[in-house]
Amino acid sequence: MASRGHASHFRSRGALSRLSDLIWPPRSLLSEAIVDRPGVIEPELWSELNFIAEPCCFRCGFPLTEDVGPEAVCGACAGAPPDFTRARVALEYDDHARKLVLDLKRAGRRDGLKVFAGWMASAAAPLIAETDVIAPAPMHWTRLAARSFNQAAWLAQALSEASGRPWSPGALARVKRRKSQAGLSASERRRNISGAIKARGRFDGKTVLVVDDVFTTGATLDACARALRKAGAAKVHAVTLARVIRGTDIMI
Ligand SMILES: [Zn+2]
Repeated sequence: MASRGHASHFRSRGALSRLSDLIWPPRSLLSEAIVDRPGVIEPELWSELNFIAEPCCFRCGFPLTEDVGPEAVCGACAGAPPDFTRARVALEYDDHARKLVLDLKRAGRRDGLKVFAGWMASAAAPLIAETDVIAPAPMHWTRLAARSFNQAAWLAQALSEASGRPWSPGALARVKRRKSQAGLSASERRRNISGAIKARGRFDGKTVLVVDDVFTTGATLDACARALRKAGAAKVHAVTLARVIRGTDIMI
């Protein structure tokens, strides 16, 4: 009797998840600390995350040192406006953001996706309000075959679930395999990605939100935007989990 009573009590609390928690207790996204549920960051490390907030460039979301009006743009956008309409980003790409991104893209760690989607949803709220469809930045199929997942697609799906906007996993495709953008300068990145991304299908009059993990120079987001515009999109917004702010010496 006692063992049956125990079993039903265990089952009523979700036996499988309780058991997996005992074998693999959830870890903080930023340390080895054991936390009470997946996707948690302990308060002292949470307070060290650099969220990018207003004031920032109306077009590309780059942080501005002072608030100079509601539609102020940064020097880069004033000189050469990006091909995307507007972009927003959750975090500055520092050591903490780097760990979150690399755990996601190299280790395939998924327990932070819901949290990341929440951050991106609030950073890009005005853009999401206009969005008809969410599209992940694409990965070439040969790289996808080797890696088995595209972290941008995971982020796009999580953002779709958080925002209620539909997502289209195959809206964009890499039609040419190019070398990795890592370590390339801004102009090399632009040349390297040129012509490598195509839209699949038509997006006439639609507003599309492109999702990627890191905004480095914006070359990939621009290439996605050009492809979607060619396919009829009226606006192409972008949101990323992190953005390189200081210099380009951080290897991604
Ligand atoms: Zn800008």
